[in-house]
Amino acid sequence: MIPDGAQLVMPIKSRFYEANDIQVAMLRLDLLHPQISGNKWFKLLRLIQRLEAGERPRVLSFGGDWSNHLHALAYVGKRYGIETLALVRGHASQVPTAMLEDARRWGMSLVYIDRDRYRDRNQPEFRQTLGNAYPGWEVLPEGGSSADAVRGCRTLWQLLEGTGWSKPDFFACAMGTGGTVAGVIAGKPEQTQVIGVPVLNLGGEAEAMVGELLRQAEVVDPKGWLLDPDGAWGGYARLPDELSATLRSFEFLSGVPLDPVYTVKLVAAVNRRIARGHIVSGSRVLLMHSGGLQGRRGMLSRIENGSTAFVGPVLV
Ligand SMILES: *Cc1c(COP(=O)(O)O)cnc(C)c1O
Repeated sequence: MIPDGAQLVMPIKSRFYEANDIQVAMLRLDLLHPQISGNKWFKLLRLIQRLEAGERPRVLSFGGDWSNHLHALAYVGKRYGIETLALVRGHASQVPTAMLEDARRWGMSLVYIDRDRYRDRNQPEFRQTLGNAYPGWEVLPEGGSSADAVRGCRTLWQLLEGTGWSKPDFFACAMGTGGTVAGVIAGKPEQTQVIGVPVLNLGGEAEAMVGELLRQAEVVDPKGWLLDPDGAWGGYARLPDELSATLRSFEFLSGVPLDPVYTVKLVAAVNRRIARGHIVSGSRVLLMHSGGLQGRRGMLSRIENGSTAFVGPVLV
């Protein structure tokens, strides 16, 4: 089930990288599958394998109304004919997003819960109530970040075998709930440093989240990784004008579309680390494009307005 990695690794050329003598390539997981985009394919890999083997669980999960995870899970449900259900943070009266429209069309049931109750989603009492309301349903955590997700993401290193990029000096990816970066850390070659870029303000929580996911997946922390504390730009889905300009400039020079929530923050954080000398010249850096492009639909005019409003140089 592992696709051909050679077609997914794309060199990125820019004067900025050349001037700093850094070799950069992008792992285009956005090209993996039109619906199960990017890292979500690996996060759901174990579930997909079980479905391929004939299991038919009913699966329930959580997310916001632009959740790429819910979107991917809904598609998997349709593809394999299993029931899926989403507990969505928000109110039933709000206009459904294009993402949730897709999910509903693919057969996912949507149940809205308000912000206060959503905050309790991992509390034992809440889980108890959930178990009573939906007996027999499997519960996937928010973002799908389970031990299985860590094991699934670990296998993405297999994609890189034979591509010339199986042992980069740095492997960098965006982080939301942490399952992806934990899997990348779990499977990394010894000499590769992993850089995770949290796209929301997690503070010191971020390292603890990754540590906990490694523990759940029974992986001994191999060390050689860090999380960039400055990558959030004010919080989840915040898009200051400078980031919109970065997104546009990067797309222009590379031809690779970025998503405004995750990969643009990844690129901005890595480029800043290069400019500051934290990534030394001569290094080979692999950036992971984790997909999410379907989420751009909600932010196109913000990107356009922001990038034209920004005055100043961007690091690309
Ligand atoms: C879900 C998602 C992430 C974050 O993955 P986590 O495993 O939750 O850290 C990164 N990029 C994109 C595009 C995503 O959809």
